[in-house]
Amino acid sequence: MTKRGKSTEQIHHDYQPPTGWDAVPVPVYKASTVLFADTAALHRPRSRDTVTYRYGLQCTPGSLTLAARIATLEQATHCVLVPSGLAAITLTSMALLKPGDEVLLPDNVYGQNRHITTGLLSRLGIHHQFYDPLDTAAFERRLSDRTRLVWLEAAGSITMEFPDLLGLLGACKTRGITTALDNTWGAGMAFNAFELAPGLGVDLSMQALTKFASGGADVLMGAVCTRDASLHRRLEEMHEFLGYGVGQNDVEAVLRGLPTLPLRYRAQEATTLTLARWMQQQPAVARVLHPALPGSPGHAHWQAVSGGGSSCLFSAVFQPCYSPAQVDAFVDALRCFGIGYSWAGPMSLAVPYDLTHSRSLSLPWTPEEGGTLVRFAIGLEDVEDLRADLAQALAQTLPTSG
Ligand SMILES: *Cc1c(COP(=O)(O)O)cnc(C)c1O
Repeated sequence: MTKRGKSTEQIHHDYQPPTGWDAVPVPVYKASTVLFADTAALHRPRSRDTVTYRYGLQCTPGSLTLAARIATLEQATHCVLVPSGLAAITLTSMALLKPGDEVLLPDNVYGQNRHITTGLLSRLGIHHQFYDPLDTAAFERRLSDRTRLVWLEAAGSITMEFPDLLGLLGACKTRGITTALDNTWGAGMAFNAFELAPGLGVDLSMQALTKFASGGADVLMGAVCTRDASLHRRLEEMHEFLGYGVGQNDVEAVLRGLPTLPLRYRAQEATTLTLARWMQQQPAVARVLHPALPGSPGHAHWQAVSGGGSSCLFSAVFQPCYSPAQVDAFVDALRCFGIGYSWAGPMSLAVPYDLTHSRSLSLPWTPEEGGTLVRFAIGLEDVEDLRADLAQALAQTLPTSG
């Protein structure tokens, strides 16, 4: 070969992965360009049945490996990866809905799903209704010929009601309506979304991999899984329309998180239950919302589908005698809890919520029964440190008489 310039020489340096390099981690496969052997390969039509790498945006060996592992986690057969949990919600709704259709969402749906539906989807002429996740009869009355998609969330965001999944799914199935579950809370660990009862499961399960799958609080990514090849093709088509790709360093980080996901999920779940039960005993607290606690809204529904999983979140509703400012002071007095969004990372977090503008239907308690709500996301700290921290902040900011 003729002598080439220093740049060309480096760029075209021969590279063959060493034979016998049998390391366990999946390498980071970075590329925008993927080279074709010749123009004939470039012109060859894409086949649906075999993987052909054509461009880094579509897929890489790393992203395909991660998608396959998430599908395994969810007991699905197909998975599409996108750059955030929010992108996974958008992908699902955009792939399944067209102008004139209607989508139903639980009133305790993740806030950004509400935002996309009332904002972007409305602008596109797609109708919506919110339903009470605990009232299946009222839900059925909302279904009509134009209902094309029903979102489910179990447990729901912030107020943690666990829906009547079996009843809601049954109602959709008899009418042939597609169901999509935001399964970030369950993370593929709490239950099998595709087989909640014999022959009864969701059509699509989306997750923010940002949460448990990554586990590091350092990655944003989302996934949509299904067992239905034709639904998967619609997701893939929308994936291409929207130009969603995932960064290969992020793929590597999530692949690194997956082997410890079951251990982290069980550890965080156990700490969460201990602290939720302890908070129930505190006089400043009116109620604790966590589906595994008897008396929490939807507890019986949680028992009906549960594989025992209950995740790392609970909310405490404080006595109505405390003002929102007093509850803010309690959150500020916490030392082991950060104040911030997202969850399922190593650090515990606490966020006060004002629900007056984020619900369309009524809350499961009256203003006399409960005041300001704080959502706790429990991390991987030692449980006694977290309990002591809650105790000192309560004593300092929300003292009770007697
Ligand atoms: C965090 C979250 C999302 C969105 O995930 P991002 O990666 O932050 O966009 C979606 N649904 C639920 C229930 C979540 O908690």
